Amino acid sequence: MIANYHTHTTRCGHAIGTDRKYVESAIIAGYKILGFSDHVPVPFDGGYRSPIRMGTDEIAGYFDSLTQLKAEYKKDIHILIGFEMEYYPDYFEKTLSLLSDYPADYLILGQHYLDNEIGSHRTTHPTDRGDYLEKYVDQCIQGLDTGVFTYFAHPDTLNFTGDKAFYEAQMRRLCEHALKAKVPLELNLTGLRTPYIYPHEPFFRIATEVGNPVILGFDAHEPDALTRTDVVRAATRLAKKHGLTVLDRAELVNPFTARTERT
Ligand SMILES: [Zn+2]
Ligand SMILES: [Zn+2]
Repeated sequence: MIANYHTHTTRCGHAIGTDRKYVESAIIAGYKILGFSDHVPVPFDGGYRSPIRMGTDEIAGYFDSLTQLKAEYKKDIHILIGFEMEYYPDYFEKTLSLLSDYPADYLILGQHYLDNEIGSHRTTHPTDRGDYLEKYVDQCIQGLDTGVFTYFAHPDTLNFTGDKAFYEAQMRRLCEHALKAKVPLELNLTGLRTPYIYPHEPFFRIATEVGNPVILGFDAHEPDALTRTDVVRAATRLAKKHGLTVLDRAELVNPFTARTERT
């Protein structure tokens, strides 16, 4: 593994460790590329403050800190600055325009809630509701179609406990669409550190059949996560078992110039 594009910071409120510590851990682990993709700030109506992301007033500090580290460690590692972002129909354009004042290198799609987040279903919470699964797939497809995303983080995050055939059909639709949109899927390493809902093997059986390329992503919420070579080995074994094609690095999509270029 030479690149990790999925790294958080304490600004999201559920990560630990200084920005510098993440960089130092990545250097110790021998990566060539470290991409930060903290949970994007969303300018919600009515001043709603999301429990999982930085505030809009923290963007400048995020860029200042990471830009400084990027320069300081440039001989050792290539640092990228991006965001993990949902497709929320009411806020997508507003969020993008908020970010356009800053030199973000890339965005990854990660759908943590349905609809527009406020009062909506959290995608990691178990549900047997077919309409939730269908909505998840529809919403992610709309996100993929915007053409701004470099990859698709934890595409298997919707924690569905209902009918297996329905899950299979919906996730096949999602995988086929991601392939068509040329957006690689992330094989998220979280569940290989401690038991978690992803990576979800039934999902990756479908992705293998569809032929989606995958990229390993640590989804690091603590600096030490980046040094777990055992987790990388487990992910490589899992990919091999399913016959998945693993990409070493992502082809970065500039979110501000690449709209619809890939479709
Ligand atoms: Zn997080
Ligand atoms: Zn995520």
